[in-house]
Amino acid sequence: MAVPKRKTSKSRRDKRRTHYKLTVPGMSTCPKCGEIKLPHRVCKSCGTYKDVSVISFDE
Ligand SMILES: [Zn+2]
Repeated sequence: MAVPKRKTSKSRRDKRRTHYKLTVPGMSTCPKCGEIKLPHRVCKSCGTYKDVSVISFDE
């Protein structure tokens, strides 16, 4: 098995981990307003689902 010749420095290790980002599971962005929403559910910020306006905010 290939064995690393050198110890990974703290700097190199931390640079690698800059790509590790926190993503809340089950989160997607709305294609219309870009807001984070639950997948397969109506966006609660603009009220659309699959480009169809489902909720109207004017009362
Ligand atoms: Zn939206």
